[in-house]
Amino acid sequence: MARQDTRARSLRRISLIADALEDQRGFPRLPKRKSRPLDSLIATLLSQNTNDRNSYRAWLSLKRQFPSWAGVHDARWQAIARAIEVGGLKNQKAKRIKLILRTILKERGSFALDFLQQMSDEQAMEYLLAMKGVGSKTAACVLVFSLGRDVFPVDTHIHRICNRLVFVKTKSADETYEAMKPLLPPGRAYSFHVNLIHFGRQTCRSSNPLCGQCILFDECLYPQKHRNLLSTSGTKRQKGTTDFLITEKIANDGSKRRG
Ligand code: SF4
Repeated sequence: MARQDTRARSLRRISLIADALEDQRGFPRLPKRKSRPLDSLIATLLSQNTNDRNSYRAWLSLKRQFPSWAGVHDARWQAIARAIEVGGLKNQKAKRIKLILRTILKERGSFALDFLQQMSDEQAMEYLLAMKGVGSKTAACVLVFSLGRDVFPVDTHIHRICNRLVFVKTKSADETYEAMKPLLPPGRAYSFHVNLIHFGRQTCRSSNPLCGQCILFDECLYPQKHRNLLSTSGTKRQKGTTDFLITEKIANDGSKRRG
């Protein structure tokens, strides 16, 4: 009973915070045009450990050099690495992309993940997580951005903010993803995800968060917040950060790739 009360309180609190962010930043809606699941998977993989601007440049370069996934599959990993170099971790990402394409071709006989549409959230997550190099954030992004599911991908910004606001007490983004599942107001996962990412890039930054300008100051339990209260560095973007999400971008720019 006590546990249920605690969960109900957390749900209410998180819902109010989602409201506050929507009041300030709007209610983001999923793009009508959805990227294909395999596109979202590779784009999100390219975004690991880099910002969306560089991962989008890597994505465009990959598409320019290999117009089809079959072409990527047939290429040497070194050639893929050269194509995606601007996104960082080129060798690791190139080998993972090749392995993923090989696995999908072997299991499904084509370069498409559209069959995920027929699966439940749990089944689709399980299928994607079985691939080497695919973590909960990447898998959840495919579910949200290509399948339109009400799941909540947790990246480094969201993991940090969820802990600063003490929604959860976790040590990794994967743990935060699991812990947040029962605490999300239904139908709000996408909006909350997008607003928290922008909030994390612009206000609740990793270092030097702008606590003095934060609408969630009273709600926040981050012990350092008073020290940052007088932060006057404004909302100037840090070099290399962007305001778009690669998964939205590839859907909105109509990127098409045929297997
Ligand atoms: S008060 Fe500071 S640490 Fe807390 S949520 Fe706001 S910006 Fe982040």
